[in-house]
Amino acid sequence: MTWHVLGIGSLGSLWAMRLARAGLPVHLLLRDPQRLAAYHQAGGLTLVEQGQAQRLELPAETLDAPTPIQRLLVACKAYDAEAAVAALLPRLAPGAELVLLQNGLGSQDAVAARAPQARCILASSTEGAFRDGDFRVVFAGHGFTWLGDPHATAAPSWLDELERAGIPHGWTPDILSRLWRKLALNCAINPLTVLNDCRNGGLVEHPAQVQQLCAELAELLQLCGQPAAAEGLHDEVGRVIQATAANYSSMYQDVAAKRRTEIGYLLGYACAAAERHRLVLPHLQALLRRLQGHLAERGLPLD
Ligand code: NAP
Repeated sequence: MTWHVLGIGSLGSLWAMRLARAGLPVHLLLRDPQRLAAYHQAGGLTLVEQGQAQRLELPAETLDAPTPIQRLLVACKAYDAEAAVAALLPRLAPGAELVLLQNGLGSQDAVAARAPQARCILASSTEGAFRDGDFRVVFAGHGFTWLGDPHATAAPSWLDELERAGIPHGWTPDILSRLWRKLALNCAINPLTVLNDCRNGGLVEHPAQVQQLCAELAELLQLCGQPAAAEGLHDEVGRVIQATAANYSSMYQDVAAKRRTEIGYLLGYACAAAERHRLVLPHLQALLRRLQGHLAERGLPLD
């Protein structure tokens, strides 16, 4: 079974390269003939691991190629996922499986609504990768990927392929809890690093802000039916701040590089969920307003 990979950026390339190195069939899906030509011009995909670069010219095609797709890894940003999958709808085979690597929440529901005939498997990953050139990706941080399906407990048959590819992963019956927890960690850390212009470790100077946000996020998680994701949140936020003290958060890096953030699927999603439940969370809502003001000043999208 071919792994079609949509979104040949950081995470998509990391997955594609490891699957292909394990001898599994991989097809890359590029948005248009220009990107396909650029890919061939680059001589394929390059993965840099521990300073060693490896290049592979994997088969690639545009979104409108005629072959059906049975298994699709969606590795676009959250704000691009729905439109990218929509362009592939005519190619999805009956019973197709989609693996959604997007951070945050909201994009998964949008994709599932667009492709009701497909099974959507959600992922939450702590792996880290970044692009240091076109079609060139650096594997920056080892991590783990949780996979799960909120609508079915049975694991897909291909988990052993991830094992063979050396992609550390686990199957969980409660992927939504994992995604909510990661969203809450993100909300408590990333926006504050942007607004305080600091590395993650700089937040030790702002303990009250972090504490207030964690309390409100825990309240929200409880109300959204995610009590496990609320448990010990403040302690874990503290541990993450310590363990990643020297790092700039992904949102910080996006803003610094003038790239669109995934705010609409993180803090924006949390505030919208609070509103739906008529829950007043003053610190979280003020944080969203301040962050949106900061983005507006820099001409970046607010969602
Ligand atoms: P990225 O490097 O920006 O890659 C996204 C890719 O999607 C780009 O290559 C982009 O194409 C492609 N794309 C967008 N729309 C498309 C379309 N319509 N058709 C075809 N390709 C399309 O993003 P990323 O960092 O891999 O992140 C992907 C998701 O994983 C995000 O939700 C992120 O939060 C999550 N995540 C990332 C990491 C990480 O370390 N990078 C870790 C954990 C989770 P172009 O190259 O043509 O622009």
